[in-house]
Amino acid sequence: MSAPRFERVALIGIGHIGSSLARVLQRDNLAREIVACDRRAETLDKVRSLGLADRVADDPAEAVRGADLVVIATPLSAYAEIGRRIATAVMPGAILTDVGSVKGAVVRDLQPVVAQGVHLVPGHPVAGTEHSGPESGFAEVFQNRWCILTPPADGDPAALARVSALWEAAGMKVVIMDAEHHDMVLAITSHLPHLIAYTIVGTATDLEESLKSEVIKFSAGGFRDFTRIAASDPVMWRDVFLSNREAVLEMLQRFNEDLTALQRAIRWGEGKKLEELFTRTRAIRRSIIEAKQA
Ligand code: NAP
Repeated sequence: MSAPRFERVALIGIGHIGSSLARVLQRDNLAREIVACDRRAETLDKVRSLGLADRVADDPAEAVRGADLVVIATPLSAYAEIGRRIATAVMPGAILTDVGSVKGAVVRDLQPVVAQGVHLVPGHPVAGTEHSGPESGFAEVFQNRWCILTPPADGDPAALARVSALWEAAGMKVVIMDAEHHDMVLAITSHLPHLIAYTIVGTATDLEESLKSEVIKFSAGGFRDFTRIAASDPVMWRDVFLSNREAVLEMLQRFNEDLTALQRAIRWGEGKKLEELFTRTRAIRRSIIEAKQA
């Protein structure tokens, strides 16, 4: 489908992902007008000075008025309140979408407040860096990454097609999934790895002062990659774990069982077991490289 063009796009939350999308809209001229909404005056000043929007607002209801596309790009914990505030202000026929990393909670928070005639198309561009804020965004962040859309079963096909075309214009490959499946898949591919990184970096920093300097000195031995992941935004990740509680706990349970099996293999000197697992996981890395997702 050819790139869509919107009359007025309201971006509620314009940090790393929201500002990256604003840059795509501007680069490809996909919106006649962009309205950016954020809660802090300081962030809105930054948005103004970066020239990311035609207009800024601190009131979500004011920002969405007359918009044919509304994109929520705040931390997940802000959704319920934003949903309540914009409920009667989004115009009939408009599309309401988002970029949140968990989808079941989004449907739970937004579906009940979506007015008749407004099309809800929840989305998750699986892209981004560990940086936050409007100055950290860039249009190319979405290039060649996946975007998962989780529309309701009775959703409007035309609205879904327009949101798909938007992310395709941003360079993404779009897939449709149900929200529950999305949350399971992301729990193992993204949420659990972040939890492990937060844990290992936390454990290392809890060690005594002398060892800490050694940890930084020898960080290239594997630890460094964990520190990059563990530098991700604390608020965003707090919300991800609380919003995807069930799926994360399920994956954590499986992970703990596998970890216990490895612990046992090390204790009993079962080298063959270790080698078998490491050979299997090496093949996964190769297939990720082949799929150009490395
Ligand atoms: P971010 O850089 O911290 O941006 C979030 C923005 O939302 C900030 O500008 C923040 O404003 C604003 N905000 C917070 N509460 C608000 C409220 N109540 N009303 C209006 N604005 C509010 O975070 P991000 O990385 O863009 O993440 C945003 C969303 O994208 C999250 O739901 C996350 O799950 C999802 N996501 C992130 C990534 C990633 O890698 N970063 C990838 C895919 C999806 P202040 O300046 O006032 O704090």
